[in-house]
Amino acid sequence: MSGVASVRKGLFRRAGGAALDVLFPPRCAYCQGDLAESEICASVCALCRYKLVRDLAPCCRKCGAPVGALADVREGCGRCRDRKFQFQSVIYLGLYVDDLRSAVLRAKHPHQDLLTDALADLLVDRQAPALADFRAEIACGVPMHWRRRWLRGTNSAERMAGRLARRLSIPTLPLLRRTRATQMQAGLSPAERQANMRGAFAARRGQPIGGARVLLVDDVMTTGATCGECAKALVASGAAAVMVAVVARAEGTQS
Ligand SMILES: [Zn+2]
Ligand SMILES: [Zn+2]
Repeated sequence: MSGVASVRKGLFRRAGGAALDVLFPPRCAYCQGDLAESEICASVCALCRYKLVRDLAPCCRKCGAPVGALADVREGCGRCRDRKFQFQSVIYLGLYVDDLRSAVLRAKHPHQDLLTDALADLLVDRQAPALADFRAEIACGVPMHWRRRWLRGTNSAERMAGRLARRLSIPTLPLLRRTRATQMQAGLSPAERQANMRGAFAARRGQPIGGARVLLVDDVMTTGATCGECAKALVASGAAAVMVAVVARAEGTQS
């Protein structure tokens, strides 16, 4: 192709892109407002980013609970010191309050893929150093029981795992399955939550779990009962290490 033709083609492409932007202006995945020119590369506008990505309080590396700045959390915090988790650490975008809580709740509904992807992107951006340190080889979303998945029409945890995996250039695989339906965790005490989830997950046969460093992805973590059971199933099948990545950490009723 001649130089002139190549420049023409480039101009045509740019004009086409501009026309698409006029027909479908890029919108913020959270507030649906038009994105300013400087925000085009982002999935949420600057104001929503400010609302969704707040300063993080110091937190326990073992269970992710917010702790005082001077707390000694080498062996975990007061909430998790007596608990043994099979995941080695927890990372998250922020606490399950205000706009982040609203966004996570909205992402549970069907047709919210752009918002779900935006939350996963914000999580990757915020936790890039911890993710680089962990060197995950496979991402896996916390599975839903098929009946709940069918009723909901989506599983935001699996969608988030897919987006995280793409950003980290690793595969996402369905390593786990639900062995049974469980009650909704909301409204249960910490002990009831653990009993409710006990043995609720198993590794799927034929998945390459042995020796793998697994990034386990969910939308919210409260007591760690769900992620703890998932990690237990992964480690029992030979996973070398499990890191939990959630969009929001709920402070609620942790034990
Ligand atoms: Zn916005
Ligand atoms: Zn802790």
